[in-house]
Amino acid sequence: MTEYYDILEVPRQATADEIKKAYRKLALKYHPDKNPGNAEAEKRFKEISEAYEVLSDDKKRQLYDRHGVAGLGAGAGMHEGGFASMDEALRTFMGAFGGGMDMNSIFEGYFGGGGGGAGGGVRGQRQQGASKRVNITVSFEEAAKGVDKELAITNYVTCSTCQGRGAKSSNDVKKCSRCSGSGQVYEQRGFFSMSMSCPACHGEGRVITDPCTACRGEGVVKEKQHVKIHIPAGVDNGMRLKMSGYGDAGPGGGPAGDLYVFITLSPHEIFEREGNDLILDLPISFTEAALGCKKDVPSLTSHACRITIPEGTQNGKVFRVRGEGFPNVHGQGKGDLIVRIFVETPTKLSEQQKQLLSEFGALESPANLPTGKGFLDKIKSLFS
Ligand SMILES: [Zn+2]
Ligand SMILES: [Zn+2]
Repeated sequence: MTEYYDILEVPRQATADEIKKAYRKLALKYHPDKNPGNAEAEKRFKEISEAYEVLSDDKKRQLYDRHGVAGLGAGAGMHEGGFASMDEALRTFMGAFGGGMDMNSIFEGYFGGGGGGAGGGVRGQRQQGASKRVNITVSFEEAAKGVDKELAITNYVTCSTCQGRGAKSSNDVKKCSRCSGSGQVYEQRGFFSMSMSCPACHGEGRVITDPCTACRGEGVVKEKQHVKIHIPAGVDNGMRLKMSGYGDAGPGGGPAGDLYVFITLSPHEIFEREGNDLILDLPISFTEAALGCKKDVPSLTSHACRITIPEGTQNGKVFRVRGEGFPNVHGQGKGDLIVRIFVETPTKLSEQQKQLLSEFGALESPANLPTGKGFLDKIKSLFS
C-alpha cells in the first residue's frame, strides 16, 4: 500500500505541525460534505484520515517508521486500503479540527461561505428540524387555473416559554463537565484513541439543570398550524412543491425543516391528460360523421370550444384546438385540447330506420368506403 507520508504529501522528517497542516488541507478538499456521491473522494478521505491517525500519534508514528504497517499490530483498527468506515474517518477529522466546531464554520473559513451542511456526525450543534411530506389532491380544473389550499399540519415549533432554550432560564444551561462542551469523549483502545458521543450530555455539549416545564427541556413543542399553499397553474400528477422552512423547528434553535407537497391529480369524468395536452374522446353518430357537423365541446375554462367536423370524418380522427390545454407550470406556453372522434354504430333501430338504411345500403358503392375498398383490392391481389 502507499506510504502514509506520500498520502499526506509530506516528507518523512515532517514535524507534527506540518503533518497536521497537510492533513487539514487534504481533509477539507476530500471531505464527503464537499464531494457528495463521489466515491473516489470518499476513498481519498478515508486514506488521508488513516494516515493522519497514525502519523499524528508519536508512539504509532515511531512504530510505523521502524516496522511499517505491520508494526501497528493486528486488530488495531487498520484496514488495507483505508479506514473500515466513514465514521472512523470523520471522527479523525473532528479530532483534528477540535471536537466542538461546527462543520459549516470550518468550511466557510476555508472556502469563503457555502458550507456543505452540518454532516459528519457533529451532534448538539444547531440541528435542522425534520422535513415533512403532505399529499394534496387537485381536480383538473384546479390544476388548469391554480388554486390556494389551506392545510392543517402538526409541527414542532420553538417553545415560546423558554424561546427554545429548553431551560427555565439561561442560568439553567451549563456546559457539560464530562466533555467540556465538545459533545465527544475519548477512550483509549489499544493504540487508538476512539472518540464517541458523550454519555453525560448525549453529545449535546451542554446539560440543562432546570428544564422548562412547557417543553420538558426539548426546546420545541407540538402545535397544529394552518399553512396556506399556493398550487400553481399547470401542476401535474406526481409533482412536488417545496415549502422551505415549513417543517419542524430545529431543536436547540436550529433551522426549521421543509415541507414537501406531493400533488395527485384526481381523474376526470371525461378528460384525460398527456403532458400539458387535454384529451377528450368525442362520440358522434355515423350520419354526423358522414354529412359533417359542428360540435360544442367542453374545456377546462368557462367557454365551450366549437369544432367543425367535416363531411366523411373517419373513426379515430383527431382534432387539435390550440392553447386549450394546461398551462406550462414553469411559465410560458399552453398545451392543446385534443379531440378524438369516436363514430358510434346506431343500435335499437326502428323498422322505418332499418328500411331506410337498407335502401341506402343498396345504393352504396365501393367509392363510399375508401378504407374498405383498399382492403378488398389487397385481398384480390393476394388470391389472383
Ligand atoms: Zn420550553
Ligand atoms: Zn458531555
